[in-house]
Amino acid sequence: MRKNIVAGNWKMNNNLSQTQALISDLKKQNQTSNAEVMIAPPFTNLWHAFEALRQDTIEVVAQNMHFAENGAYTGEVSAAMLKSVGIKTVILGHSERRAYFNETDASLAKKVDSALSNGMRVIFCFGEELADRKAGNEENIVGDQIKNALFHLGADAFQNIVLAYEPVWAIGTGETASPEQAQDMHAFIRKTLSEKYGNEVADEVSILYGGSVKPANAKEIFSKPDVDGGLIGGASLKAEDFFAIVNAF
Ligand code: PGA
Repeated sequence: MRKNIVAGNWKMNNNLSQTQALISDLKKQNQTSNAEVMIAPPFTNLWHAFEALRQDTIEVVAQNMHFAENGAYTGEVSAAMLKSVGIKTVILGHSERRAYFNETDASLAKKVDSALSNGMRVIFCFGEELADRKAGNEENIVGDQIKNALFHLGADAFQNIVLAYEPVWAIGTGETASPEQAQDMHAFIRKTLSEKYGNEVADEVSILYGGSVKPANAKEIFSKPDVDGGLIGGASLKAEDFFAIVNAF
């Protein structure tokens, strides 16, 4: 059975002392669901967060990485560097990376390869923009994003891939996809996977929804059969809100 996952994407928020405070609040929360819980602090706080949560079930993951192993890439961080501070999972392809840092399907394919060949797990993000949805083109866009960055992989690779559907128009806007819109897209994503890799692979991949998930709407979204959890931005910055979402299964 595929896993339920709730991952908090802190984005460029929380300095070291704020990270210490939030982690201490997170440790006080009570988990009543079976979801795997992850937080993704900025690079500067990964080591601290990893150490602080060493005995905890919350996994610390990275928000991004470069595809090269090392070398002259000023300002970048590699999979091997993440692993050296205990990080085993990386978010790739977030829409903010695509929009502000020119990440393309082709460069993301290389990042995915580097993460997997380093034995890491990938949370691969994708999603259509508002204009795509208004034009009724959302399935083509999402299908292409998945095919272009992932369909060169063998079926086994999907044991280490989590998908995160994040419609760009719902990220940080307060506007959520309706539970039905999320379910329809997740079913389409699973169908796209099954056409290429078969039902067994498609049924095992966790597909998260992201975009203005909060305590008030998480339960309904997570109740949909093809929604296996969430990638949470704003609401992951308060421990009580984040755990209300973690416990919404
Ligand atoms: P949001 O962000 O929950 O603040 O909309 C989600 C994301 O970008 O992962």
